[in-house]
Amino acid sequence: MSEMATKNKETRGFQSEVKQLLNLMVHSLYSNKEIFLRELISNASDASDKLRFRALSNPELYQGDGDLKVKLSFDKITNTLTVSDNGIGMSRNDVIEHLGTIAKSGTSEFFSNLSEEQSKNSQLIGQFGVGFYSAFIVADSVTVRTRSGLSSNNGVEWHSSGEGEYTIENIIKESRGTDVILHMREEGKEFLNEWRLREVISKYSDHISIPVCMMTKVKDKKGQETEKTEWEQINKAQALWTRNKSDIKEEEYKEFYKHVSHDFSDPMLWSHNRVEGKNDYTSLLYIPSKAPWDMMNREHKSGLKLYVQRVFIMDDAKQLIPAYLRFVRGLIDSNDLPLNVSREILQDNKVTQSLRSACTKRILALLENLANNDAEKYQKFWQEFGMVMKEGPAEDLVNKEKIAGLLRFSSTKSDSSKQTVGFLSYIDRMKEGQDKIYYLTADNYVTAKSSPHLEQFHAKGIEVILMVNRIDEWLMNHLTEFNGKKFQSITKSGLDLSQFDDKTKQEKHKETEEEFKSVIERIKEYLGDRVKEVRITFKLATTPAVVVTDDFEMGTQMSKLLESAGQEVPKVKYIFEINPKNELVKCMADEPDERIFSYWVEVLLGQAMLTERGSIEDPSKFLVAINTLIVKT
Ligand code: ADP
Ligand code: MG
Repeated sequence: MSEMATKNKETRGFQSEVKQLLNLMVHSLYSNKEIFLRELISNASDASDKLRFRALSNPELYQGDGDLKVKLSFDKITNTLTVSDNGIGMSRNDVIEHLGTIAKSGTSEFFSNLSEEQSKNSQLIGQFGVGFYSAFIVADSVTVRTRSGLSSNNGVEWHSSGEGEYTIENIIKESRGTDVILHMREEGKEFLNEWRLREVISKYSDHISIPVCMMTKVKDKKGQETEKTEWEQINKAQALWTRNKSDIKEEEYKEFYKHVSHDFSDPMLWSHNRVEGKNDYTSLLYIPSKAPWDMMNREHKSGLKLYVQRVFIMDDAKQLIPAYLRFVRGLIDSNDLPLNVSREILQDNKVTQSLRSACTKRILALLENLANNDAEKYQKFWQEFGMVMKEGPAEDLVNKEKIAGLLRFSSTKSDSSKQTVGFLSYIDRMKEGQDKIYYLTADNYVTAKSSPHLEQFHAKGIEVILMVNRIDEWLMNHLTEFNGKKFQSITKSGLDLSQFDDKTKQEKHKETEEEFKSVIERIKEYLGDRVKEVRITFKLATTPAVVVTDDFEMGTQMSKLLESAGQEVPKVKYIFEINPKNELVKCMADEPDERIFSYWVEVLLGQAMLTERGSIEDPSKFLVAINTLIVKT
């Protein structure tokens, strides 16, 4: 670009979400003003990380401007506070993209779902992350002067008073990096004070790996301030994860979490480990306390940063963590990977694999420990992340058993839809002689709880796990046993509880089977291939009939899941089971007229289908049958 080029000044509007965010922020973070400094220092540190990385392959980027640093200065006369870095900087397009829009996926959904009430709640904005725009909590206007690349002609100036518009123009900028200049409002003036700034900087930036400096007055030999000034380093400037665990305070871990995760709330728990030997790495892994709103999206970014020998390499290091743990935040610093490692190299690399499996083990162990020692907190974890954990057994065969141990469901043991029962505690409560883990999948808790399939379990006092999430049946396709106990769906034909019956009962059942033989034949003849099989069952108490599927056939929930995903699904062939003790069934058995008999069959089968699938294939046929029978009696 030539010196004569126009300044290209233009005024642009913020994306509407930015306006909402700004509004939300100024209102909800009013009492927590100082976090703007954390966010700006965090951005400056990120920008320095990025420059260091870029300079690995392009060393002249480092040229001039000296070591990476963040500098803070203020001026009481102009009422400004300036946060400067000599990091990667931004181009004009970067500025428009990063300081004019919110690029995070799902943002607009997030805002359109906010109610008036919620938008006053600071927890919510916490979930969202505040970032650069938090400057407007204390400033009534903000100027950003930034430059990316080597040429001083590449400078860009952005200015806004945070009310819907900003201006952007090209400038000459001699130094590398970014200056963020805050024009303080009345309420922000407390930060134009050395001691206040010192306090906030040490609170929020000890863990930042580059120096954060402030312009201070040089002291003479007697300790008196002189008129000379110098840049004084305020923070420790040692990357937190490189320090000894025992020297790191809980607060520091929490602050560092907010820096790496761009989250606003405290983490739920974390695990910090240094490993030497065959593999040489440090990991610092956090579990957030809240799920991000777009967590169910499997394309959701991974929250892991990769460092190699302390140098930041990349965000979103998906290769280092399985998708079902995509809620984990933090970093891995490896001494085994090359500095020029790329996503492609990570893809199939021995080191990647061992890092991934080590991180996975750490997280699972952390969760196991939580589940064993703090059930209440684990329950909170489960509410936030349980749905993602359920993807685990299908994705991670090696750790299947471990993950299964972490799963939680509702069960017939309690009267609550809360998912609190794990397979281990279920096994502890198993009845004598019981060798299977019984479960039922259904559309929702109410349907599950009132399922006729549960009748005999209630009668025999056997607990059944109730699985009511969409993903559960799919999950159970990947779990066959846990702790040596097989899983058994109670809506499958292989279910056999006769072991819990005594001898005389079993003989009686045989007799009844004989008695009903001809009725069964009549039903079969009438239904033909509409069902797979017809038989009597002794497992029902009051319900006249149910349908079940063969063990190896697709179950109801699975077929509904696929159907709702628009897939063509072969019709489920059900086995029709009737309860010989039931009055309606007895009426049917005694009916000589074949036409009336067929109405009985329609009614019983229709009812069974309704409880199983929530729908029947030919409702009018079903209604004709009911109406005819009502009139007749
Ligand atoms: P986040 O840090 O979570 O990405 P922010 O709102 O804090 O969100 O910042 C938005 C983006 O603006 C950053 O991702 C970065 O690309 C850019 N940015 C902000 N501050 C700086 C800076 N000092 N230097 C370079 N880029 C910056
Ligand atoms: Mg940020």
